[in-house]
Amino acid sequence: MSYMTRKDFLKYIGLFSLSSTTMNAKDFRQVTSQLKPSPQMPLLFVGHGSPMNAIESNEFTKQWQLIARQLPVPQAILCISAHWETKGTFITATPQPKTIHDFGGFPKALFDVQYPANGNPELAKNIAAQSKPMQIQLDHQWGLYHGCWSILKHMFPAAEVPVLQLSIDYQKEASAHYEIGKQLQYLRERGVLIIGSGNLVHNLRLIDWKKMHQPEYGFDWALEARAIINKHILEGNHAALKNYQQLGKSVSLAVPSPDHYLPLLYTLSLKRDHEQVSLFNDKAVMGSISMTSVLIG
Ligand code: ZN
Repeated sequence: MSYMTRKDFLKYIGLFSLSSTTMNAKDFRQVTSQLKPSPQMPLLFVGHGSPMNAIESNEFTKQWQLIARQLPVPQAILCISAHWETKGTFITATPQPKTIHDFGGFPKALFDVQYPANGNPELAKNIAAQSKPMQIQLDHQWGLYHGCWSILKHMFPAAEVPVLQLSIDYQKEASAHYEIGKQLQYLRERGVLIIGSGNLVHNLRLIDWKKMHQPEYGFDWALEARAIINKHILEGNHAALKNYQQLGKSVSLAVPSPDHYLPLLYTLSLKRDHEQVSLFNDKAVMGSISMTSVLIG
């Protein structure tokens, strides 16, 4: 019980009193597994940037808060994380996913952050069972990586919405990630907010640390790569974005490894033809990172 927050405890009390009076265990399972039909949920790709954004208040985190307030209240969140790379694709299936501090060299205040959202194991099972032909497997071990909780802490600070996290299979080509994403379309009509979390320009080796406190700074190649990727996003040219390795030298420098780029493809794969696409937080920082984020719908 010691790991529970007050909120969780109150929820527990509520469930027990409810289950003893009006619900049996089977009914309860159905409530947790069957999300209510909803209008089609918007889609997000969020540039998460430095883990420090989790505990800072800046122009990026304020925009995350603002966007979240404009969204329909989700019944669950599915976050595709740049920071959970696996062999095969996995989804978190634990009732209370851990807050994983997957970094080093940051202040204790950042390691103290907890994001105590519940999971939804029944929903995870449902997603795994429905995943075809690209298989998604259940994971009972891991929790939420900072790519997810650093943004959700601002977007949904009360952690009241259950969160599931999908891993990135490091063995798969970009087009396969796009196909996995497409399989998740039905969740949008069940109140699930799908968020890809990464960074479209993300070259840690080339970061200019002297520009750490400058609100906006991008190397020429980073600005060029951002412009190329943004243009294809706004024009709906997903074929070009799947073949990002053919987009020239600046994009190669922007995407030296695919982990932070691929979550974008999950978000884009779910865009329907008529849906509007807009960018926010479209700024470069520390030379080689862009915070560019995408809202669809
Ligand atoms: Zn990251």
